[in-house]
Parts: sequence; structure tokens; C-alpha cells
Amino acid sequence: MKNSIPSRKDFDQYMIPVYSPAPFIPVKAHGSTLFDQSGKDYIDFVGGIAVNALGHANPELRKALIEQSDNLWHTGNGYTNEPVLTLAKHLVEATFADKAFFCNSGAEANEAALKLARRYARQNFSEDKNEIIAFNNAFHGRTLFTVSTGGQPNYSKDFAPLPGGISHLPFNDLEALKAASSDKTAAVIVEPIQGEGGVIPATPEFLQGVRELCDQHNAVLIFDEVQTGVGRTGHLYAYQGYGVTPDVLSTAKALGGGFPIGAILTTDKFATGLTVGSHGTTYGGNPLACAVANVSLNIIDSEAFLADVRAKEAHFVEVLKKINSELNMFSDIRSAGLLIGCQLTDEFAGQAKAISVLATEYGVMTLIAGANVVRFAPALNISESEMETGLSRFEQALKEYKTRK
Ligand SMILES: *Cc1c(COP(=O)(O)O)cnc(C)c1O
Repeated sequence: MKNSIPSRKDFDQYMIPVYSPAPFIPVKAHGSTLFDQSGKDYIDFVGGIAVNALGHANPELRKALIEQSDNLWHTGNGYTNEPVLTLAKHLVEATFADKAFFCNSGAEANEAALKLARRYARQNFSEDKNEIIAFNNAFHGRTLFTVSTGGQPNYSKDFAPLPGGISHLPFNDLEALKAASSDKTAAVIVEPIQGEGGVIPATPEFLQGVRELCDQHNAVLIFDEVQTGVGRTGHLYAYQGYGVTPDVLSTAKALGGGFPIGAILTTDKFATGLTVGSHGTTYGGNPLACAVANVSLNIIDSEAFLADVRAKEAHFVEVLKKINSELNMFSDIRSAGLLIGCQLTDEFAGQAKAISVLATEYGVMTLIAGANVVRFAPALNISESEMETGLSRFEQALKEYKTRK
């Protein structure tokens, strides 16, 4: 069969429609500039949803991938490999952790974290210590366990019966957590900054309080850093900015810079929750993924690089504020490094998607976080000129949107 050039119509014909992708098809991208089939260019403020932390087709990542592909692609977990060991060592040395487990996505990382916590509680305490506390509007992935743990019932309710023993509390509400936690609590899972939920940072007092309650009840504290990790917030991991240390941390997205990989990090104490044969995945620790992640981490895990992310954040937010002082479409602009959310005013409530769609017509790709927040998660190394061009296109789109209304 000879392949013809695919079109967006083929999506509707051949793909199970769990997504509703943009009308154009990206075919090529370098840095933070992307081209579609017609050759039109876009500034990429999406970054593959907080994944392409070093931009598209990064030369150093390409080199790592090509070199590794000449040597060893895959062995399965009957054998370990050099790239995975290098990566585990780096992650351990750069964080609170003593040990790592590798998988392929954020959902799988959280799945592993939750399974570890349940098993740890059962082995060290009792079968009754199995309750998991999570938060409203949280997002932890789409496997049945993680989607049930996430705080958006619309994503899980149609898949009932759901795993039990999971409860949801208001985010940033320490009193509610105090009331709900007990010695039956096996784990609390929380995003330090809710990403999909609207770029909502936990307050430092809240995270500190969660830490203390987990200690009090011998519950495993899991930080879901799938979106906030690997430099996104201007710290290697967001917990380091908060100064509150979890027992288990999940990481994925930016870790592979565009190559699928996920991991959990934990201490020796909690690593005992998983033992030989208790958990695993065929591709976990795949040499290609780990070779790319090693280079990604080497670049991002530097104080100069992270300081630059914080400088870019300051500039990005300043420009957004200037745009908003003229247009008054945002009631709040929240940021944690280059994870930025613009909360729409009541007048524009529910219109984040429409604004984002119009922005692509102006040549800038943006994300949303719920119906009321336009979100940006650009590459951490986005160039100044790409940032200026993208923001000016975004401003034009907002102006047009406002006059059309
Ligand atoms: C994206 C995301 C996930 C899920 O990651 P996948 O790789 O899509 O499975 C989990 N938690 C958070 C906070 C995320 O942003």
C-alpha cells in the first residue's frame, strides 16, 4: 500500500475521537517555532503540554537519541542498562530520594505511587489502612486508579465501578484535611501547583500542614510533580521551592523532553513498599528514553538554567500584565516558573477554548486549564524573540476576540 499525505479529515475517519485536535497538522518544529502542512508558522506556548522543556528537535537531545539508537533500544527488565542507572543516580542525587522506579507516563507514575502506598500501609500496619485522600480538581492521569483519584468526576464517573477507598477534599483547606485524615489514611496525593485544575498553587502553609498530618498518621505523602517537575517552576522540582519534602514524588512530562518516560522517586524507607514481582512495566527504564532524559536533566539541573527560567517567567508575566492593563480580560495572572495561567474575568468566563482557538489563527499555540483559564507552558529555553513574537500575536488575537464580541 502506498501512503498518501494524511489530512485532518483522516482523524475523524480513522481515530477514536477521544481528542478534538486543531484543524491544522503540525509537521515540523525547531525550538519554539512550529510549522503546519501549509507552511504556516506558530509560536509554541504549549510545549507539548509541559513536555518539550528544551524545545523541539533540540540538538543535544537528538544527538543522545541517535547515539543510543546505534547501541541498544530495548531489553525488558530481565536486564538493567547503563542509561537507566545513570538517570536513577542523577535523580537521587538531585532530590530527597534514595531510589527510583521508571515507567512511561505520568499516569503510570502515579499508579505506581498509589500502589506503593497501599502496599506499604498493608505490609507495615494493617489491611484497613488503605484510604487515599486527594483533592477536588486534581489531575493525576487516566488509568482507572489515577482517574478515580483525580478530582474531576466527569473524567471517571462513566467508568464505574471505580476503585474504592478514595476521598476528595477542597484544595488548600487544611481544616478539611485534618477532619478527614486518620490512622486509616494510607496516602495523601497532591499537586504542589494544580496544573490542569487552573494553575492553582498550594499555599506553603497547606503543604506544610499536609506534611505534618501525614507524619502524624503514618500516611505516605505523594507529590504529583508530573507537570511541575524538571525545571517547570524555576526549581528542579516544585517541592524544593516550597521546602516541603514528600515521601514519594511522581515525575514524567518534561523528564524526556518529548520522549515518553515517567518515574517515581522515594526514600529507602518507602521503597520497601514495592518488592521483586510486586509491580513493573515492559518499557520502564527503556534505554532510548533514559538516554534522552539524561541529557535533558543534565541541561535543566543547573542553577543558571533555573534562574533563567525564573527570569523568563518575570518577563512573560510582565508582558501579560501590560496587555491586560489595556484589555481587562483577566482577573488574575498566576505563575510558577513557566507554568502560567490567565484567569478570565466574568465577562469572558467559559471562553478559554474559543480564545485559544483564535490565537492559533494568529499563529500562537496556547493551552487551557478548565473553561476559564488560558494556560502557557512554553519550552524553558524559549528564545526572547520567540517569546516577543508569540506574546504580540496573542495580544492581537485578544484584541480581535474582544471586538468580535
Ligand atoms: C499530565 C499529568 C498527568 C498524567 O500524565 P500522562 O503522561 O498524561 O499520563 C498526571 N498528573 C499531572 C499533574 C499531570 O499534569
